Amino acid sequence: MSLLQDRELTSLTIADMMIPSEKVAHVQVNNPLEHALLVLVKSGYSAVPVLDSTYKLEGTVGKTKILNEILGLERFEIDRLSELQVKEVMVTDIPKLLKEDTLIDGLKALINYPFVCVVDEEGYFDGILTRRAILKEIRKDIYSGKNKPTR
Ligand code: AMP
Repeated sequence: MSLLQDRELTSLTIADMMIPSEKVAHVQVNNPLEHALLVLVKSGYSAVPVLDSTYKLEGTVGKTKILNEILGLERFEIDRLSELQVKEVMVTDIPKLLKEDTLIDGLKALINYPFVCVVDEEGYFDGILTRRAILKEIRKDIYSGKNKPTR
């Protein structure tokens, strides 16, 4: 049984629920777009974090953005996948969480994003918090006792 089950939902921190960096697929700012698209297609994820060579978080990059970027007037310009780098297409204006932030902070951040990156005070990448992870904790809490649904 998970130790988290015994904790009050509101006492959980992002560190309790996040996927740690070593288990997160990512790409680097200088990678060609082709590499990013391969990672996204092979992993099945719609977007992944973008890091620099020192593991600082720089942004995120997603399939839709990449495909839009190489879309010409009537066809995809596949050559552009090797000409462009991730840094030219990534989104940098993204919300970030700290490990010490609360479940409520996570909930607010995840309203508009399927996942949010977790960083330390210096901006180094620590992992991600996904909607799936936070929904699982809320479901556990609902089924654990006082609020148990009748069906
Ligand atoms: P989920 O809530 O599990 O469906 O995940 C939502 C999104 O978070 C996925 O579409 C990916 O963009 C991202 N994601 C989830 N798990 C990982 C992972 N292990 N590595 C990279 N990105 C992930």
